[in-house]
This record gives sequence, structure tokens and C-alpha cells, in this order.
Amino acid sequence: MEALKEPVLMPAEKHLAVSTIGIHSGITTPARDRNSGTPRPSIARSEALALMGATGAELVGLLHAAADLRERHKGRVATYSRKVFIPLTNLCRDKCGYCTFAKQPTHPGAGFLTPDQVLDIARAGQQQGCKEALFTLGDHPELRHSQARDQLQRFGHDSTIGYLAEMCGLVLRETGLLPHVNCGLLNTGELLELREVCASIGLMLESSSTRLLERGQAHHGCVTKAPQLRVETIAAAAGLGIACTSGVLIGIGETAEERVEALFLLRSVQEEHGNLQEVIVQNFRAKPDIRMRNWSDPTTLDMVRTLAIARLVLGGAQNIQAPPNLAPDAYQWYLLAGINDWGGVSPVTIDHVNPEREWPEITALRAATAEAGYELRERLCLYPEYVRRPEFVRSGIGSRIDAWTDPTGLVALKETQ
Ligand code: SF4
Repeated sequence: MEALKEPVLMPAEKHLAVSTIGIHSGITTPARDRNSGTPRPSIARSEALALMGATGAELVGLLHAAADLRERHKGRVATYSRKVFIPLTNLCRDKCGYCTFAKQPTHPGAGFLTPDQVLDIARAGQQQGCKEALFTLGDHPELRHSQARDQLQRFGHDSTIGYLAEMCGLVLRETGLLPHVNCGLLNTGELLELREVCASIGLMLESSSTRLLERGQAHHGCVTKAPQLRVETIAAAAGLGIACTSGVLIGIGETAEERVEALFLLRSVQEEHGNLQEVIVQNFRAKPDIRMRNWSDPTTLDMVRTLAIARLVLGGAQNIQAPPNLAPDAYQWYLLAGINDWGGVSPVTIDHVNPEREWPEITALRAATAEAGYELRERLCLYPEYVRRPEFVRSGIGSRIDAWTDPTGLVALKETQ
């Protein structure tokens, strides 16, 4: 396996001279949030791009503006979802340069979980007070690997999505955990298969750059990573009343312009379709067994700067998440850069996407969140803004949501461990 060479990141263009006051006064536009109907604060592309190079007092001003915008819309609460991670299959039709999750069929640990294994993991989560069953899996491995087709046949299926839908139904029925699925691209028929048995889906945009599909880039040879295809899945999900999580993966060879463009694309997806319940900003982490093993990780400042810009681009109403386990010594800064969510945290299973990075204990996450001035609250995989909207909640899932949540749509304190 040949390691990719890290390209030189194009520097952001000359900074705008943006003071704290300048940012505060320049972020209101007439655009309206699809969910709240309130005006969406935002900044222009050129300003966002200039801020990608913010340093010194300008950077402090950027963080101040982002934290202030977040607090005006989200208060001083930071959320997380107590989940159990179910890696249904680590076979995949793609091979992204940064991925350690997908395995070749010849790898000794490659394959599908059996229904009994799925249920055992879900039950372990149930016993630990989890509410979310996060199904993460490779994208349509049966389209590339005969081993995947053979294994699916043994389970009585000819498609991964068919088997996934059956496993979501099993977990929902037997444990009450709410399935959230990260399974790659989906067409309308596949979304319909999953619609009744999962609460929400996740599909990272990763990047809006088609350049990253070229030879030598992170997504070379990856048929599922065309940005337009990923937007089409989110749009199709919107038409079926399925809430989606998406986001960007930073540090995979994108330029500053491309990173900003991805944030604006996600903003326009939410404005047009209204089902983007959360935007994740995730930082690339090098690992020894990936093609991009020699690349540098984004710095904490790069991450913090991007989070603050994401808040200003996406507005105060959007939920913005960054994972705490990918910067264990620095993640409190993410709160000060405007995030309001830590994503899924598991007291039971490892992060199979970043297996070398342990999740913090929830008590430690609570303490770190409080030290930065915020209260940690548990949410479901379906965000509070969506749990009371019938078009996003199926009958088999609504009763579980009602049992767990308080009037704000967050998990009631008596249900939180
Ligand atoms: S990141 Fe996802 S699509 Fe890419 S190889 Fe890994 S599992 Fe497959």
C-alpha cells in the first residue's frame, strides 16, 4: 500500500481586518432558519475564508463571536448521546486514504456481525443506560466483494441495507435502543427500508471538493465520496422525513477555500431541505495502517478556528459537534469556539473509526464541560428540535422518545446515569 504524500495546504488569502465588534456587527443576514424561522446569522464566503488565517487578537475576536452566537441560541448547555457502537460490517466498496475501519475480505477480522452478536452488543448498551444504537458500516460491500454477498446470503439477504434494516428492527424491538445508521449512500428505496426502524441517519459530506477524488488524493478511487451524491442522499432523506447528521473531515488535503465551501454547502442543504439536524467538524488523525499515515494532524488552533467559522457560517440554531476523543487535551476549547455537542459517547464500546482514541468517561466529560462553564446534558440521536415534529418520528420510535425526554426534548434527568 503506497502512502499518500501530503500536499501543501494553500494558505488563506489575506485576512480581513475583523475585530470582535466587526464580527458582531457583520453576521446578520435576511436568510431564515428552516426550523426556527428566525433570521440566520452568517458571514460572507470571503470573510469566512479570510478568518481561516485569523491569529492573535483577531482569532480571539472570532472565538468570542462564535461563543456569543452559540450562547444566544443554545444557552450554556452542551449535549451528548449515550450510545453503543455496532460495527455491522467492516467490509466496504471504497478505500478512503484515512480509513482504518474498512478491511479487505482477506483480513482475519473482516466480515459481518451475526444477529446474536448485534443483540449482545445492544443489550450491553441497554444495561449501561445507552439510548442510541449507532450502526456504523462500510458502504454497500456486496457491490465489490463476493465474500460480502456470500455472508449476506447466509443471513437471508442480498443487500447490506436489507440486513441492516432487519438488525435495526431487532435492536429496536428487543432493547428499545434507537438506531442511528452510518451506512453510506442511500437511494430512496433503501431509505424507505430503514425509515421505520431508525431514528436518524448519518452521512458525512467529508468535503465538497471533487479534486480530492483525483489520483494521489484522499478520495481517489472512492465511488461514494462524490459530494453531489452525498447531498442527494440527504435530500432524499428529507423527502421521507428522516433527520440527518453530516459534517466535514478536516485535514484530508482540502484547501482553505474548499473547507469554507463545504461549510457553505452544508448551510445551503439545511436551508433547502431542513433535515440537517447536526453538523460535525472532525479532525483527521493519522494512523499507522492508513494510506495517509505520514500526513500531519490538523493543529488544535486549526480545529478551533474552523469550529468558530462553522458556527458563524451555519448560524446559532444549527447543532455543531466535535468529537472529544480526537483531542483529549484540548477539547474544552471547542466549547469556547461555539460547538454545542460532543456527539455519541459510549460507556461500553470503543470508537471503531478511531480505535486508538478512547472516549472520555462521561463523568470526566461532564467535569471538563462544567469547567468551561457549560452544563452537560444527554440527548437522543434525534435532536430536541426534531423529536416533537411528527414528520420526523415514526410510530415505533415515538413512544421511546416520549418515555425518555423531558419537555425540552432532552433526555430527562431521571433517565440519565
Ligand atoms: S471511510 Fe467509509 S466509505 Fe471510506 S473506506 Fe472507510 S468505511 Fe468505506
